[in-house]
Amino acid sequence: MSYKGPKFIVVTGGVLSGLGKGIATASIGHLLSGRLNVIPIKCDGYLNTDPGTMNPIEHGEVFVLDDGGEVDMDFGHYERFLGVTSKFSWNLTMGKVFKMILDRERRGDFLGQTVQFIPHVTDTIKECIHSIAKAERADIVLIEIGGTVGDMENELYLEAVRQLRQNVGTDNIVFVHLTYVPVPSGIEEQKSKPTQQSVKLLNERGIRPDLIIGRGPEMLTNKIKQKIALFCNIEPEAVISGADVDTVYRLPLVYEKERVTEILHKKLKIYSPPSLGRWAELVDRMMRKEGKTPIRLAICGKYVNLHDSYASILEAISHTGAHLDAACQLVWVDTTEIENGKVSLDDALSGIDAVIVPGGFGTRGIEGKIEVIRVCREKKIPFLGICYGMQLAVIEFARNVCAISEANTKEIEADGFTVKEPVVCILPEQQKIVYKGGTMRLGGHDVVIVPRTKAEQIFRAPKIRRRFRHRYEINPEYVSRLKEKGMVFCGHDPSGEIMQLMELPDHPFFMGCQFHPELTSCLDKPDELFYNLVKAALEKKRSSQKM
Ligand code: GLN
Repeated sequence: MSYKGPKFIVVTGGVLSGLGKGIATASIGHLLSGRLNVIPIKCDGYLNTDPGTMNPIEHGEVFVLDDGGEVDMDFGHYERFLGVTSKFSWNLTMGKVFKMILDRERRGDFLGQTVQFIPHVTDTIKECIHSIAKAERADIVLIEIGGTVGDMENELYLEAVRQLRQNVGTDNIVFVHLTYVPVPSGIEEQKSKPTQQSVKLLNERGIRPDLIIGRGPEMLTNKIKQKIALFCNIEPEAVISGADVDTVYRLPLVYEKERVTEILHKKLKIYSPPSLGRWAELVDRMMRKEGKTPIRLAICGKYVNLHDSYASILEAISHTGAHLDAACQLVWVDTTEIENGKVSLDDALSGIDAVIVPGGFGTRGIEGKIEVIRVCREKKIPFLGICYGMQLAVIEFARNVCAISEANTKEIEADGFTVKEPVVCILPEQQKIVYKGGTMRLGGHDVVIVPRTKAEQIFRAPKIRRRFRHRYEINPEYVSRLKEKGMVFCGHDPSGEIMQLMELPDHPFFMGCQFHPELTSCLDKPDELFYNLVKAALEKKRSSQKM
């Protein structure tokens, strides 16, 4: 009987972490998603249910899905490259898998049996994969296994996908292995040994890669491709270059040149030609230097040392660069240093054309952010406040324009402070919540746009949908006082109770949003707030140059 189910592409990583497996997976998905429904699944080895409670310094950004799931930041790449709206269930973690098994064990589903890693854990992983494929009517299921082959915590996923091949047959599954091909200094030659060793580790687990992507500083030579092919038991055409690129958006184009689509079509007996014309055009425009006006854009936060904490913000900025002739140069401002006097406000903001205060939590660094926001308001520097950034913009305005000098957010009471004027307070629904994981106001919600505001001009829609992740909100009791002094709340939830967007008139661009616009920005349609922030900075710069 011929096989009618979905095809599977499994991506593993070897040699070292940080090779860009998520982007490689997303790029493969991009190439196949022309005519086929490609559904990405990420398998993470850790025991947290999700990354929502993990430190962004260690783990990078927490990506929030429309359904409210807090997931690995690789989902950002998947959504931006594949145009899919992902679901929480598509991010498997060992924490989730074990929880499912333990719940079933307590229910009595395994009565009489000893519950074991194999078959119970591996079967659960496979069941999850199959049920997602079925529910989504996937043509292709793209499975990325986190970590590096040989890591203890991912062994069960590898065993599960090995068994998956037994179940669906070799014609319906492809294993892609991403490795590292170094060019050691002094030798100046591409080296295949790390790849050979990592493929051996994979072979020991019963998996033979069908496609090897060699990441490295340069394109792989034919010689090294032949060598890898020989030692790893694979055709030379199936060894492809994943050379460093100027932007990750170029990777699908590199893979296409290396004939990845053709190889996958042949191996899986599918046909879904990519249309890369517009994508290539946008990538070129994004990366072009000539004819662009340089803009210095400051990101003022406390995780400035780990840029991965703000990954989607950086993506959203680069998307605008593909549509506006601005060359955005990022300047990282650590607001804790402003707060403790290590860096002066003047120095931090000198020559800055636009400012973003991103989302955040806690007390550290917020007074520095409030000071930055004051300067943006007074000196008419284009400003975008995201989530905490909007809340702090409202606090700044309450203090310095409405003369509510003790204005603050209730959030800092957790650190032992007393807040007399809670201009930002906890959302009513959040008051009784004790558990920290997955309990914020999360995911996609509607934002009603108020007519005759800048927001209306920007979004040109009565209603938009954006993603949220917060516990606090602008205190409704202060809204009328803020409005009296000129703050405009230009977007709110459908009930009219939660303020979700604010703007200041008489300013080239001063907006704050309670949602995270960076999460839904993409290359062919940059988010409107980022776009208009950069546009305002460009216009301001060009008009000052004319004077
Ligand atoms: N800490 C704030 C809140 O919980 C803002 C959250 C954020 O910026 N994501 O409301």
